[in-house]
Amino acid sequence: MNSPITLALSKGRIFDETLPLLAAAGIEVAEDPEKSRKLILATSRPEVRVVLVRASDVPTYVEQGGADLGVAGLDILLEHGSAGLYQPLDLGIARCRMSVATRADFDYVAAVQQGSRIRVATKYTQIARQHFADKGVHVDLIKLYGSMELAPLTGLADAIVDLVSTGSTLRANHLVEVERILDVSSRLVVNQAALKLKRETIRGLIDAFAQACTKTTP
Ligand code: ATP
Ligand code: MG
Repeated sequence: MNSPITLALSKGRIFDETLPLLAAAGIEVAEDPEKSRKLILATSRPEVRVVLVRASDVPTYVEQGGADLGVAGLDILLEHGSAGLYQPLDLGIARCRMSVATRADFDYVAAVQQGSRIRVATKYTQIARQHFADKGVHVDLIKLYGSMELAPLTGLADAIVDLVSTGSTLRANHLVEVERILDVSSRLVVNQAALKLKRETIRGLIDAFAQACTKTTP
């Protein structure tokens, strides 16, 4: 008898891009989260269920045992801290980058060279604090929860730190990417106790995911 397994996913691109990996492990999710309000989804494997949580809550669920495994972006893991999580795999999905962006008329390079204090708005305060500390740049961090692009346009901030993939959101708001901080992709995270107690089932999933992502990632 296989142990019951709970996998935490966030709706949207992480859910969508995890589906093919689950399929490779012989797991079909029974319902489309965009069409249902259910937060717990059954799968074609009776011992495996999916719980839908906010992207930033995935590490908490997995760390505290609300889920055995989860999929979370490197951005979220760095912000949250991931000391208590086993991270066996970079799944190579939901790829993007964390960057600094400003209005086109803000001279970021000059501001950095002159040692000016730069006002930076972001949801990612830990990553931003670390990045500017490493560069020796003085910043005033302004914590936001969304629509970071608006901050430089309204005069709230000189710069933002945010995720970029195609750059079209920045372009639409007349912002330019002035510095890349790090490449981001999503990782499999595993609860440490679950790994010991449900070793066989979890190992089976990790192996199937590993095989599937070497096939799909360039
Ligand atoms: P919420 O929408 O609940 O506020 P969120 O905005 O963090 O949460 P998503 O936008 O679905 O959630 O992003 C989830 C994860 O997908 C992020 O943590 C990041 O790793 C990745 N991601 C975010 N934006 C992009 C993007 N433009 N391209 C590729 N991956 C991205
Ligand atoms: Mg979002």
